[in-house]
Amino acid sequence: MADPYYDVIIVGAGPAGSYAAYELASSGHKVAVFEEKAAPGIDACCTGIISAECFDSLGLDTDVTLTQANSARFLSPSGKCLRVQTEKVQAHVADRASLDRALAAKAQSRGAEYFFSSPVSDLIPGKECVQAETRCSGTREVFAARALILANGCRTDLPWKLGLGRVKRFLVGAQAELETRDVTEIEVHFGRRVAPGSFAWLVPASQDRAYAGLLIGCDAGLHLQRLVDELYRCGRVADRHVQIKQKAVPLESPARSYGDRVLAIGDAAGQVKRTTGGGIYYGHLGARIAARVLDGGLNNDELSARRLSDYEKQWKAKMGKELSRGQLARRALNRLSDGQVERVFDVLGSNGTAQDMVESGDISFDWHSKLVLAALRFSSAYPWLRIRRLLSGEGGA
Ligand SMILES: Cc1cc2nc3c(=O)[nH]c(=O)nc-3n(C[C@H](O)[C@H](O)[C@H](O)COP(=O)(O)OP(=O)(O)OC[C@H]3O[C@@H](n4cnc5c(N)ncnc54)[C@H](O)[C@@H]3O)c2cc1C
Repeated sequence: MADPYYDVIIVGAGPAGSYAAYELASSGHKVAVFEEKAAPGIDACCTGIISAECFDSLGLDTDVTLTQANSARFLSPSGKCLRVQTEKVQAHVADRASLDRALAAKAQSRGAEYFFSSPVSDLIPGKECVQAETRCSGTREVFAARALILANGCRTDLPWKLGLGRVKRFLVGAQAELETRDVTEIEVHFGRRVAPGSFAWLVPASQDRAYAGLLIGCDAGLHLQRLVDELYRCGRVADRHVQIKQKAVPLESPARSYGDRVLAIGDAAGQVKRTTGGGIYYGHLGARIAARVLDGGLNNDELSARRLSDYEKQWKAKMGKELSRGQLARRALNRLSDGQVERVFDVLGSNGTAQDMVESGDISFDWHSKLVLAALRFSSAYPWLRIRRLLSGEGGA
């Protein structure tokens, strides 16, 4: 058996893995990060929108920011527009490759070692250490550590091998980068034709480029191509032949996010907003909690599943309610017909209700449960009763 040369091995150099590496290396632990890609963030499928709070908490410089947002337009299936605006910047649109590179560089500056082009193909839990088998440049190598963090996104094979269970419910996100001059603020498009049971987005990345994306149960690429074709017909984009990337987004957490000497964080732990599919902030919070719990466990040599279960208790206390309410909201949206969505727009659009909600502080970029409850409270009799029935699972379409 290989000696546990490292304190912690981290599988995956996405935002969650690199942030955990940064915290643990800063606490003096010997950390190795294995990433199957040749560099951080290569070929990422992500729009990179994060709240100003998340941006600050990650300690990023503005050179990763493509644009900033303080307003958004919501478009109903028939094209009615609801616009909301705040005084302060609410979100940064970060270049995902730069974000991943910046976080990896921060971790490296604290001493974390990175191994790129190094997919972890197997994990072998043991009494004294966990072993990770990698294929570095085609050569098989085995590395050992006292503990391991799975930050490998929503790929289910490795968590399952360690007995954490398998995530079975996913949505598929599709995204394309478009040449366009008239996407000047975030647009959210609703309607069964555009994105059945969900929504699509257009996000400005620069003066003449935007990301178009959507997150749905199936045929995400097909629906996105249809949206791009529509935008092309309206003269809003220069070319309809675009590269569409796709990636799964978990809709649930595995049975356990901890085991003997092991923790799962980020998408691997289902730490993703169920409403929007955004996972950078929740993965960051998960990584921070994991690093603190693991720091204590490493210092006291207490790395049993029982001791590490504190991690799951803490992250669920922080975001468990958000995840379950977000799940309900997504289920409701999935069931709403276009007519019902139009009526919700009518209610929110009347007398500036949507803008009032923004100004009341009920809408936060990262915490949506207040918004879900406020949407019910602000809605008048019909939608309120209807949505409540849908949320409780009684209503039909
Ligand atoms: C279309 C789309 C748009 C999105 N837009 C946003 C957004 O605007 N804002 C937001 O907050 N979230 C967004 N998300 C979600 C966000 O991308 C994820 O939640 C986030 O990337 C999760 O971070 P992570 O570090 O947990 O995992 P990942 O970013 O998936 O990183 C996992 C890393 O592990 C590596 N890896 C996997 N398996 C292995 C292995 N066996 N060995 C070695 N390395 C391995 C991968 O190569 C990858 O680099 C979007 C998702 C999609 C699909």
